[in-house]
Amino acid sequence: MSVWALKVVGLGAVALTLIVELVCWLRRRPDTPVKEVLFFPTEVACVEHIITPTSLSPCSCPLRHGIENSFSRLIRHIMSVSSSLDLCVFSFSNTLLSRAVLVLHSRGIAVRVLTDKDYSLITGSQIGFLRKAGICVRYDSVAVHMHHKFAVADGRRLITGSMNWTLTAVQNNKENVLITEEPDLVRPFIQEFQRLWEANDPAQLAIA
Ligand code: ZN
Repeated sequence: MSVWALKVVGLGAVALTLIVELVCWLRRRPDTPVKEVLFFPTEVACVEHIITPTSLSPCSCPLRHGIENSFSRLIRHIMSVSSSLDLCVFSFSNTLLSRAVLVLHSRGIAVRVLTDKDYSLITGSQIGFLRKAGICVRYDSVAVHMHHKFAVADGRRLITGSMNWTLTAVQNNKENVLITEEPDLVRPFIQEFQRLWEANDPAQLAIA
C-alpha cells in the first residue's frame, strides 16, 4: 500500500471516530436545552416522592400531595443531577434541599459546597450535616459576605437567582430562580465557582 493510500485510510479512520463521537454526544444531549424561571414563595406541598421516588410506602405526612409548583420543580432539577453539583450559596438551612443534596452525595455524585463562614454557623444551618456526611465544604471568610446563590449541575446547567436555600426564602419571600443551559451564561458561573473554590482552599489559606 502506498504512503498516500495509508494517509487516506488514516484520515478516514479519524473522520469515522469523530463522527461516532459526535453522534454519541448528540444522543446524550437533550433536544431542547433546559430554560426555566421559577418564582417563590410557593404553597407548602410534599416533595417526598421526588427525593425518594423508590420508597414503597405512600407518604403519610400531613402536607398536600400531587402538587407541582416552583419548589417541586427546583427539587426535580436538583434530583436530576447525574455527575456533579457545585453549590455556591450564602445561607443554607432548608432541610428538604439539604436532603436532596445528601441523596445526590449518597449516589456518588461529586458535590462541592461553598458558603459564607458567618452564616454557616447560624441555628438551623445544614452545612454541618453536609460536612458530616463527607461532602466537601469550603468557607468564604473574608470580611464582606459571599452573597451568591447559584449552583452548577453537571457542568452545564445553571440554577441561580435571588433565593437563599432557606425555608423562609421558599415559603415566605418573593424570590426568583433562573435555570438555564445557555453555555455563554453557564461558563462564567463555572469560572466564578472555581475561582472562589481555589481562593478558599484551607491548605492555601494556612500557608498564607
Ligand atoms: Zn408527604
